[in-house]
Amino acid sequence: MEPDQRLKQAVSLIIKAGYQLDAEALTFLKTMAHRAEVEEIVKKIIEDLAMLSEKPLFLKKDFLETNVTKRLEASEADAHEAVSDFDYVFKPYARKVAREIEVLYDPMEQISEDTVEDYLSLFKDRFAKIERILRERMDVKDAVPIGEVLKAPLKSKVKTIGMVTEKIERKRAVLVRIEDYATELATVVPISNKSLFDKTRKLLIDQMVCVEATKIKDDMFIVNDFISPDIPEKKVNAAAEQVYVAFTSDLHVGSIKFLESSFERFVRWLKGKEGSSHQKEIASRVKYLIIAGDVVDGIGVYPHQEKELVIDDIYEQYNLASKLLGEIPEYIEIIIIPGNHDATRHALPQPAILEKYAKPLYDLKNVMMLGDPARIRLHGIDLLIFHGCSLDDIIATAPDVTYQNLGEEVATAMKYFLKTRHLAPIFGSKTPIAPVSADNLVIDPPPDILHAGHVHVMGFEAYRGTLLINSGTWQEQTEYQNKMGLMPKPGIVPVVDLKSLKVMPINFLS
Ligand code: FE
Ligand code: ZN
Repeated sequence: MEPDQRLKQAVSLIIKAGYQLDAEALTFLKTMAHRAEVEEIVKKIIEDLAMLSEKPLFLKKDFLETNVTKRLEASEADAHEAVSDFDYVFKPYARKVAREIEVLYDPMEQISEDTVEDYLSLFKDRFAKIERILRERMDVKDAVPIGEVLKAPLKSKVKTIGMVTEKIERKRAVLVRIEDYATELATVVPISNKSLFDKTRKLLIDQMVCVEATKIKDDMFIVNDFISPDIPEKKVNAAAEQVYVAFTSDLHVGSIKFLESSFERFVRWLKGKEGSSHQKEIASRVKYLIIAGDVVDGIGVYPHQEKELVIDDIYEQYNLASKLLGEIPEYIEIIIIPGNHDATRHALPQPAILEKYAKPLYDLKNVMMLGDPARIRLHGIDLLIFHGCSLDDIIATAPDVTYQNLGEEVATAMKYFLKTRHLAPIFGSKTPIAPVSADNLVIDPPPDILHAGHVHVMGFEAYRGTLLINSGTWQEQTEYQNKMGLMPKPGIVPVVDLKSLKVMPINFLS
C-alpha cells in the first residue's frame, strides 16, 4: 500500500468510529503514513478508546503521537524478540550442575497424646529458645526475671522478658500483660506515646518480648519500650554457582478454579519450550522447584467443598498433580511440602504428604517429599519452607496487614515470623499446633530464604539479609476469598538466582 492510500484508510477508520481529527493530528498522521503498521495501530487505538466510558470528540495530535509511538516501539521489540527466538537454542545449563541438597529439618510423625502436659512442655521449650535468642541482643542482655522486677524499688527502671498474654486497649492507655514461668507482670502503655503505641499494636499475643519499664506503683509499670527478638542484620549469603530455584505453591489440583493451562505453560517453560529467549535463558538455569504446599484442593477441607471440585477423589487429585509434575525434566529436583489442603496431619509441624494418598508423586524420581516446615540447604543457601497457615492469624490481628492490602503487604505479614522468631506466633487460634515436647517452629538461626504460600498472593522482599518470598498460587479467586476481599495473584512464579538472591518473577497466566 502507498503512503497516501494508507493515510486515507487510517483517516476513514477514525471518522467511521465517530471521532474527528484536527489539522495538527492530520499532519502528524501524514508524517507517519510511510510506516506499514500505521493502519493496524490506528485500529488498536480505536479499540482501546471504545472501552472508555467517556470518549473524546476530537483525536488530538499529542494523543495520537504518544499512542502511535508507544505501539511502534512495542512492535519493534516483538519483532526483535521473534528473530532472536528463532535463533535461540535451549541449552539446559542446570542439567550439568550436580544436585546439592542437604535436609536440615524434616518433621516426622512424632505425635504423643493430646495432653495438657505436652502443651506445657511445648510452651516451656518455646520460651527457653526465644529467651535465649532475645538475650543475644545487646539491649536485652541485662534483663532479669519478672519476679525480681516485682520486688524492685519504686521509680526504678526495670527490664524483663516474658510472653505477651493479654492486650487491652483503653481510651488513654493499653494494658499489656506478660508472663514468664513463675509469675506475671501488668504494664501500661500511654497512648500519648505515639511510636510506642504503634509498636504495642504490632505485638502479637503469645509472642516473646523484652519490656523496659518504670515502676510507678507496687503493681504498676509504665512501659518505656518493647523489644521484639527480631533477626540481626546479616550479609546476604550467596552460592558460588549461578543456580536458579523456582518457587511455587497452592496448585489446588482438583479445584474448578485450578488454572491448569497456565500451569502447563509453566512446565513447558521449564522444558525450554515457552517464553521469550530471555525467559528461556532463565529456565535453562533452574535446578530446583520448591512447592510449599496445597498441591491438591483435597476433600472435605471446608463445608460444601464438593461444589468447587472437578475431581472429587483425593487419589485422582494426586494422580493429576503427578502427571503434570512428571513432565518436568528429571534434572530439576522437585521438593514438596504439604499444606492445609493436603493429605496428612494438619497440626504443625506437619509430616510429609502421606504416601498412601500420593503414591504417584513418590514414584517420580526427582521428587523429594518433606514435612511442613522443612529446612534445607541448597548450594550453601539455607532455606526455610513453610506453607504459612498461621498467616491467617497474623492477618487477623496485625494492624498493618489485611486481606484487602495483601497484594502490597504479603511480605509485611511474613516479617512477623522473623520479628517474633516463630512460624506460628499466635497460639490457639486458627493454626493447629501438635502437642510435641520440642518447639520446632522457632526460627533459629534466621534462614537466607523464607518461603511461604497459603495466602495466594505472590510477593517478596529482602529483610535484614533474609529474602522473604510468597509464591502465590495457580488457583483463581474462590468464593470464600471473594467474601474475604482477598484478590489472589495467580500464575506468577518467583525465580531466584542463588548466586545473588535476586528475584525474577515470571508470569504464566494465559
Ligand atoms: Fe492454598
Ligand atoms: Zn493453604
